[in-house]
Amino acid sequence: MSKFWSKIVHDLQPYVPGEQPKQAELVKLNTNENPYGPSPKVLKALQFELGDKLRLYPDPDSSALKKSLADYYQLDTKQIFVGNGSDEVLAHIFHGLFKHEQAILFPEHTYSFYPVYCGLYQIDYKKIPLTASFDIDVAAFEQPNGGIIFPNPNAPTGVLLSLKQIEQLLQVNTESVVVIDEAYIDFGGESAVSLINQYPNLLVTQTFSKSRSLAGLRIGYAMGHADLIEALIRVKDSFNSYPIDSLALAAGVAAIDDEDYFQQTSQKVIEQREYVTSSLEELGFDVLPSAANFVFVRHPDNDAAEISAGLRENKVIVRHFTKPGIEQFLRISIGTKEENQQLLAALDTLI
Ligand code: PMP
Repeated sequence: MSKFWSKIVHDLQPYVPGEQPKQAELVKLNTNENPYGPSPKVLKALQFELGDKLRLYPDPDSSALKKSLADYYQLDTKQIFVGNGSDEVLAHIFHGLFKHEQAILFPEHTYSFYPVYCGLYQIDYKKIPLTASFDIDVAAFEQPNGGIIFPNPNAPTGVLLSLKQIEQLLQVNTESVVVIDEAYIDFGGESAVSLINQYPNLLVTQTFSKSRSLAGLRIGYAMGHADLIEALIRVKDSFNSYPIDSLALAAGVAAIDDEDYFQQTSQKVIEQREYVTSSLEELGFDVLPSAANFVFVRHPDNDAAEISAGLRENKVIVRHFTKPGIEQFLRISIGTKEENQQLLAALDTLI
């Protein structure tokens, strides 16, 4: 603390990202990265960008990437916003579209960055409890609010809502922006993008960090009505004109282009998720039904903190949130087959 800090900075409770360990030999199942590398076509596009032209600023509008995404999702480029990871896109949404008199709503157990943005941008919020089976209680969101946000599938639970449930909420909640954070949608969910042309208050965010294997490049995007997108562009151009650098821009376009690679790697992650789920169940774990590239699990007879520490001794790292209500759960990202086997072998000795 310093006397030079503003009151806002003094009161902030910043987000704590999962560890990025320095030792290479760890099996890293703690931050939901894709276990498979980016498409070879992405690597080629990156090579092409390396050279003298890096002295130039990138396109401030990221037009080529917006065009790729617009074609892919059958939208207009005016319905697409891109930013430096979906975290930055979310920050601009909180800043530009959630600053209302009323509290915004999000689930009690969800992406822990949401309350952090509320602190940064001075937004009130109300947490809506999950159901006993850890589902998002959509009906409970039907109350006056300054905005609604939740991930689908939810994080850290991995539990998916149907498009029908989301549409039911949109039918009644017409006066504030509803944001569906689809960071993990490609691993088994149905995207709400198809509802965008019907609901002018719906914003869908996605990322290249998970299903496109590009967490290191930081590319995220939002899709919605042109008026919502314009608000985000106004915030962006009052903050940083060039959130997407030239390398990210080229890689993003190439990643969308390589549909086969995307389908193959996503399918492998889904297959491994099913294998990990059934193997964990055999070891006695309760595994919440996941549509993401991670599973959220607890063991009736073993303490989560102890399992996590034991796994680390066996060179496997997973995520343990000490938050009341989910403190006995571990979030385990789906790795390659070999990584998952290492995880399961370690658990076999610990349980
Ligand atoms: N939303 C959710 C639900 C997430 O889990 C994450 C990853 N931490 C993000 C958004 C942000 O992802 P990125 O900034 O890498 O696009």
